[in-house]
Amino acid sequence: MNQTAKAAVMKSANTDLKIETYPLPRVEKECILVKITCCTICGSDVHSWTGRRSAPVPIILGHEIVGTIVELGDGVTHDSGDRPLAIGDRITWTIMDNCGKCYFCREKGLMMKCRHLKKYGHDSCAEPPHFIGGFAEYCYITPGTCVIKVPDTLTDEEVAPANCALATVVAGWEAIGIEPFENVLIQGAGALGFYAAALAKYYGSRRIIVTDILEHRLEFIKRFGATDILNTRNMKDHEIVKAIQSLTDGFGVDCTMEVAGIPSLIPLGLKCLRIGGRFVEIGNSFPNANFSYDACDIVWRRLTIKGVHNYDAKHLQMGVNFLEETQNQFPFNEIVTHRVNLHDINKGLHIAGSGEAIRVAVLP
Ligand SMILES: [Zn+2]
Ligand SMILES: [Zn+2]
Repeated sequence: MNQTAKAAVMKSANTDLKIETYPLPRVEKECILVKITCCTICGSDVHSWTGRRSAPVPIILGHEIVGTIVELGDGVTHDSGDRPLAIGDRITWTIMDNCGKCYFCREKGLMMKCRHLKKYGHDSCAEPPHFIGGFAEYCYITPGTCVIKVPDTLTDEEVAPANCALATVVAGWEAIGIEPFENVLIQGAGALGFYAAALAKYYGSRRIIVTDILEHRLEFIKRFGATDILNTRNMKDHEIVKAIQSLTDGFGVDCTMEVAGIPSLIPLGLKCLRIGGRFVEIGNSFPNANFSYDACDIVWRRLTIKGVHNYDAKHLQMGVNFLEETQNQFPFNEIVTHRVNLHDINKGLHIAGSGEAIRVAVLP
């Protein structure tokens, strides 16, 4: 394919992205060229753009991507679920390309920590194939990526955030082993919080308690299965702990999931656990997110803390399955609240960073 296409490129943090033109790559063996139809802006894109976390430049940000296949390299016949693939099929894919052969991939089951990891929307686009991020017209999928064909019943906007937000939350609940009839606390009513609540409902949780400081988001999360919402804007920590204990027969919750990305929520979420409770940390995915806590409380109350960054291929497939099965039960189609086209990407990033939007969709 002897052709060029556009991408929004960040040349340094805290500056406007610029539309650049690059040649489209020749599609090599086991690779796929995709025409992007939708990419939603993740909180971590905003962190990279503002410089809160460092990113190699130049870079095409964006990793919550959906698109249609325009060219299949030799040897690509099926997706990771053994469904046949053809030109024109709509697909999503894992945020990472991993080697499958290194210590972490093969021996430790941590494909997201592969020693030769490549991540869409996270690596420099200076060299060919250039198109390795979502804020562009095309994306080039390399062989270590798990590709998933998107069911026809799901819209692009419903399925795009599965690639990061939803799959990560699936991995998070699995990591702390959520069980039916348990009481859970979700700290943060953003996109991850909505998925966390919907999954908790699906898994059969008893009380699904959500804290945030934005009332409209707390109201919205009820539609994702939250049984109790708590606006903590004017509450002291000990009042929050007490309120949560009173919702759980005085014991505290079995599991807490932190998805707001605020370090001070960690000590608070730990205090809300019952004896033997489990805490999963997802939100603070940027450096220097420090907190302090009395280790004695972790020991005496037998608490478990797990960190979850990204996910395995199976979690993305589970996320897509979950959307397909429950799309009539939860308003996933309302998670994208704003839309911009690629040329207005800077406007989109401002909206995403303002907290006004839940997810902003970038449509090429
Ligand atoms: Zn590896
Ligand atoms: Zn993300």
